[in-house]
Amino acid sequence: MIQSCYLCGSDKRSRIHNGVRDDKSIGVWECLECGLVYLDSHKTNEAFYKEGKMHDERIQMLVGGGNLAANDEDAKRRYEFVKNMIACKDICDFGSGYGGFLTLAKEVTDSVCGVELESQVAPIYEKEQIPLYTNIEDSHKHFDVITSFHCLEHLANPIEFLKTFKRHLKKGGKIILEVPNANDALLRIYKSEAFADFTYWSAHLYLFTPHTLEKLAKLAGLKVEFIKCVQRYSLSNHLYWLSHNKPAGHKVWGEFLDNELLKCAYEQTLASLGASDTLFALLSAE
Ligand SMILES: [Zn+2]
Repeated sequence: MIQSCYLCGSDKRSRIHNGVRDDKSIGVWECLECGLVYLDSHKTNEAFYKEGKMHDERIQMLVGGGNLAANDEDAKRRYEFVKNMIACKDICDFGSGYGGFLTLAKEVTDSVCGVELESQVAPIYEKEQIPLYTNIEDSHKHFDVITSFHCLEHLANPIEFLKTFKRHLKKGGKIILEVPNANDALLRIYKSEAFADFTYWSAHLYLFTPHTLEKLAKLAGLKVEFIKCVQRYSLSNHLYWLSHNKPAGHKVWGEFLDNELLKCAYEQTLASLGASDTLFALLSAE
């Protein structure tokens, strides 16, 4: 049983949720000193990811010749956001999954490679001619930019991973991270129990806020250039959680409820409250 905070060592904490969606025996805690949200037990290991079925449907589609990148909103959003930072650069994506981001990124970069434990993604990388490693150290390379989207929260020792990223940066290189926000409005403002039951998961060992993400970066010897609040899910998704206690409401109500104006306004409002669902960080080695 983990009793103290990974970031600050404090044992002052409060239990914010009983059980996670796949294991009712795991507790979710918040450090009262620094605000880190963490699980009191780590039950996932390398084998969980190697054999993971997280990407099953997408892999069938890609190996079958489908063009998933064109339909992957997250990959497109990330690519548009970082396009100028990765143009003509050597890029590594850590926890690169089925390669949706790299498939887009390789059009503007000098080189790309992926690091992914899940073995079944390999045929996609062969098809896209993207080098794939299971460990960043196996690349024996230095990069201008290392990206890692929704991956850090899965690692038991994220400080060590960030230090490894730092060793693989060229001079002046950058690290781009995207993680879920522990202060998601559905949890902290609307206090949706159904969403809490759904979102806390044995594989998300830590959940960060802008403050704890900055603390993490500093402990790894990295400088924070900026941390930005980003909203992936729309107002229709949130309203659906609150009225139906179920996910994917944007697929049911989005067509008539969501629009660009509302999306921007809602994202800005949540960001101003620090209550967006996603955090985006740019770190450097200096
Ligand atoms: Zn703490």
